[in-house]
Amino acid sequence: MGPVARIEGITDSPLCRACMETEETPIHVMLQCNGVAEQRAAHLGSSATLHEALGDLGGLLSFWGELGLLE
Ligand SMILES: [Zn+2]
Repeated sequence: MGPVARIEGITDSPLCRACMETEETPIHVMLQCNGVAEQRAAHLGSSATLHEALGDLGGLLSFWGELGLLE
């Protein structure tokens, strides 16, 4: 189970709450999830790799904040 699910602690399911298609991991949410594609594009632009996403820490934090993952 990834840190996100552990922090949230709301659901027993490891499935991604945004798309319900695969396991919810930070990598999935940041780079792959179709359920948050709009928010991801708005905050992170076209970051396609973890390296790129981590290079825009402000965008990453605002993206996660909008998803409610920082609360
Ligand atoms: Zn997903």
